[in-house]
Amino acid sequence: MGEMVDFDLLDAEVLRSNGSVQEHLHQRAADVAREQFGNKVFVRGVVEISNFCRENCQYCGMRRDNSRLRRYRAECDQLAELIIGHSPESITDINLQAGEDPVAVREVAIPLIRILRQSTPLGISVCLGTLNQNLYRELRDCGASIYILKFETGTPALYSKLQAPGSFEERIGHIRRLSQEGWKVSSGFICGLPGEGDAELLENFELAARLPLDGCSVSPFIPGDETPLAASPAAAINLTLNCMAALRLTRPDLVIPAVSALNLAETNGYRRGLRTGANLATINLTPTPLRDDYLLYKRDRFIMNEEEVLAAISAENLIPSQESLAAYYAARDQAAAASTISTAPASPQQA
Ligand code: SAM
Repeated sequence: MGEMVDFDLLDAEVLRSNGSVQEHLHQRAADVAREQFGNKVFVRGVVEISNFCRENCQYCGMRRDNSRLRRYRAECDQLAELIIGHSPESITDINLQAGEDPVAVREVAIPLIRILRQSTPLGISVCLGTLNQNLYRELRDCGASIYILKFETGTPALYSKLQAPGSFEERIGHIRRLSQEGWKVSSGFICGLPGEGDAELLENFELAARLPLDGCSVSPFIPGDETPLAASPAAAINLTLNCMAALRLTRPDLVIPAVSALNLAETNGYRRGLRTGANLATINLTPTPLRDDYLLYKRDRFIMNEEEVLAAISAENLIPSQESLAAYYAARDQAAAASTISTAPASPQQA
């Protein structure tokens, strides 16, 4: 596998490999990430602004049927104070995440983004679910530029069985439309979901290759304590890391995060993610009293603070990027536009 992986070579055997094949896969993915992005890792902060959710995804602890969850919506002013006054210096971008809660989009995300845009240079990404066109437009107009909307699984039947948001076609339609409307779009899938066999695993890569994506994540499935999938087995860390490496090889240009759940799957899982082609790290900034109720899977989920993120980056001989992810995407687009202009054939007047 010395060359760029040809999609035809990506098979379930590679994805489920261990030993020397796996080592080779991971090394090649790390090399490709370094060729594309140097030794820099983007570092963003995440704030989880609301855990209200109108969806009922079987894998997620914030599903609307989870009546044991204390629901919260954070205060815009409190978050503004936290982000402006107390953000770690290493952070260049901020990601606002929530259950699917349009009220929080209007009352918390939009006013908060306006404040951040006026008073900080932070790049702004949002992960707020499938919304209507007006809300997408307002979020963009007030200064967010990256939308995170995961396709969760590349298999439509599995998507609907797991009661993932809306329908598969709708979710894919939103991803495409967000990109057409100028958002930088990051998507992703959950690896090791119950019901996922080899064919379903491969469909994630086929879909990621077809979609207009700037970033993509691979998250290990973690059975949520308060979900219908509580008794299902968690994803294997090696399968998750192999998927991250394969994604890096099939789409070298993508920004791929190391997700904190990698550490739940294995101590050092996060560092192994950085060693497997990831180039984005996330520091959790959600105020401590709210954190416990932002229940994706387990109440004792793994939270990465600044010290742990920076220690993992430096232990892997990498360094935090000084440039924000939003600025990187903007500069990349400008360079692409300039090269299109300079390679365009001269007009008859110029010739
Ligand atoms: N509600 C928004 C949406 O659906 O896009 C954004 C927030 S949602 C809680 C964030 C992500 O958490 C989901 O897209 C899903 O991939 C991930 N997630 C939820 N439960 C999970 C689990 N049990 N294991 C792994 N990832 C999970």
